[in-house]
Amino acid sequence: MNQRYDFREIEKKWRAEWEKNPINKEDDVKPKFYCLDMFPYPSGTGLHVGHWRGYVLSDVVSRYKVLQGYQVLHPMGWDAFGLPAENFAIKNNIHPSIATANNIANVKRQLHEISAIYDWDREVDTTDPNYYKWTQWIFVQMFKHGLAYEKEMPLNWCPSCKCVLANEEATNGTCERCGATVTKKNLRQWMLKITAYADRLLEDLKTLDWSEKVKKMQSDWIGKSYGAEVDFKVVGSDEKITVYTTRPDTLHGCTFMVLAPEYKDIPALTTPECKEAVEKYCFEASTKSSVDRMTNKEKTGVFTGSYCVNPVNGKEIPVWVADYVLADYGTGAVMCVPAHDERDFEFAKKFNLPIVQVILPEGEEEKELTEAYTGDGVIINSGDWNGMKAFEAKEKVPHIMEEKGLGKKTVNYKLRDWVFSRQRYWGEPIPIVHCEHCGAVAVPEDQLPVLLPQVESYKPTDTGESPLAHIDEWVNTTCPKCGGPAKRETNTMPQWAG
Ligand SMILES: [Zn+2]
Ligand SMILES: [Zn+2]
Repeated sequence: MNQRYDFREIEKKWRAEWEKNPINKEDDVKPKFYCLDMFPYPSGTGLHVGHWRGYVLSDVVSRYKVLQGYQVLHPMGWDAFGLPAENFAIKNNIHPSIATANNIANVKRQLHEISAIYDWDREVDTTDPNYYKWTQWIFVQMFKHGLAYEKEMPLNWCPSCKCVLANEEATNGTCERCGATVTKKNLRQWMLKITAYADRLLEDLKTLDWSEKVKKMQSDWIGKSYGAEVDFKVVGSDEKITVYTTRPDTLHGCTFMVLAPEYKDIPALTTPECKEAVEKYCFEASTKSSVDRMTNKEKTGVFTGSYCVNPVNGKEIPVWVADYVLADYGTGAVMCVPAHDERDFEFAKKFNLPIVQVILPEGEEEKELTEAYTGDGVIINSGDWNGMKAFEAKEKVPHIMEEKGLGKKTVNYKLRDWVFSRQRYWGEPIPIVHCEHCGAVAVPEDQLPVLLPQVESYKPTDTGESPLAHIDEWVNTTCPKCGGPAKRETNTMPQWAG
């Protein structure tokens, strides 16, 4: 017996046999089973063994289900718009539509060779107008419901790819595609309002039968946190200072207030005796960079002469100005809890400000702190909050504050809306027309798809505009609403749209 498995001979024979007699025949009597893979983008290098490592699993499941008597729908297709396909085309100087067609043919040949049981009669291609008609249709629905909107944004810009990048494509300040250093550029963009679904995304994780590890990655990415806006009345004045905090559970430990040197009300809050010192300090701060201020080892600051009232215990606390607080963080005013924040602790030590511990590590006794304690524990020295677990109180306290009229609860997410436009050629045209009178108007559904025009120059431009912006006969159109002259949107959709 031949010890070697001669795959060339054996598989050729069975591939031909299976093509004549598919093992997965359409049969409406059988129960249905749907097995969907992630469609590959047809890059020039073709599939590598890592692709097949993923695809073999779904193929095993599909074959198993066929043997169990199911009619299995196992489609395959091409995620073929977007940067990978376009970059390949530019590098090899072949029009992206031609390069994509060649690459699809090659990858399809490879998939045939590995003999997966795909339903080739249901093959999809995201660059096919019959397909992207529906990609555009979905965009129109989102636009009509306020879920797709325009915004001027400073965005990650790759000067080499000449393209906006999502945060996920620009990790550590370099472009995922080409390795160039990413800069910021202000551009008008289309955004998808995914934050409107933050809570639902989080809630519905509970219904998923996924590993806890993966679910936690997802919930950390959504990053929901509760916080509070708290008003501190200024003693002897009608002024108040509003702070935003994610740690309202530590409010009883707030023993002083620090304002950023740019805080707008500093002149009004400064007493005549302190005026000269405060002005000098603020001027010096204005000459330092944010990075220098954040990384300064030695804390500096100046007292304004004013006091404000901690709303939860009525204690009067001093108001300071210090450059470790930046104007664009929250309101530019920070409630300082030195016992439980490292920077506040250093500042309190340097200027002899009181340190009041309000969270005690479980099972420990209260003793003088030698550094800030930022972990969980039991709440102490906090009136009727005593005994609560700190991390539970973090969520409860904002509600208590709001009920008592001491502040406002706020919800924050790490999740941001999705930048959904690219200044590139090889993507679905965004089905919007800009009219001077009507603003942004959706292309009527019966006029979809908006076809991607054939162009000679598909390379990205230095101005940050899509190459489509230079095709006058395509750009100039009429407004679907008023019939007046209008211009087509020239940005295209990102790779994942299809
Ligand atoms: Zn790049
Ligand atoms: Zn109009």
